[in-house]
Amino acid sequence: MLRSVILDFDGTLNTSKRYYARFDELALQILAEQFGCTIPDADRKITEVKRKSLSLTKALLSLNIDSDEFYRKVAEQMDMAYLLDEDLRIEPLISTLRSRNLRVALLTNSGRFLIEKVLTAVKCPSEIFDAVITSSEVDPKPSLQPFRYTANLLGCKPDEALYVGDRVYHELKPAKLVGMKTVLIGNVSKPEETQWVDWQLETVHELPELISTNPSLA
Ligand SMILES: [Mg+2]
Repeated sequence: MLRSVILDFDGTLNTSKRYYARFDELALQILAEQFGCTIPDADRKITEVKRKSLSLTKALLSLNIDSDEFYRKVAEQMDMAYLLDEDLRIEPLISTLRSRNLRVALLTNSGRFLIEKVLTAVKCPSEIFDAVITSSEVDPKPSLQPFRYTANLLGCKPDEALYVGDRVYHELKPAKLVGMKTVLIGNVSKPEETQWVDWQLETVHELPELISTNPSLA
């Protein structure tokens, strides 16, 4: 029986290209300062570490960079009013899911300070979620720990939770390894990825229909 829905944020609830272009630019500037090197060199270094660790937050940790501090610096320099439009579809989506007796959590690798700023900018108050979990409190995905932690916090077993995200190896694979069902936002790019994906949707807004029309999610 489905009791909880756990949503990724970047690339799932937020798909603003302008925001991510600026995020990438700022991230490299901050890393270049930190490493004391040029921006192209910082790019090469972080790309290489990310190849192994799969996520930026995990890569920061393996380079001994305080990810909370990193996200705070990014957040301070992001002009959210310019980069993000209010998204009036998010709150009704979360309310619809909660009205079906599902508990809904946001699980992001962003730091707490950045995600709060972004949620305010898109006019999606963090209070509409049953829980918002960030890399300020838990290990970053793809670690299995944040998935188990979130299910526990929501009071359900992993197999009673549906994880929704846009990256297969970074988040759907660990979600599935702990026993959750998974929804990919977007398409699988290789046949071997399908073992980690139960359903695929074009956008997160198709989620209520998927849940209501799927007997195995009843
Ligand atoms: Mg994502």
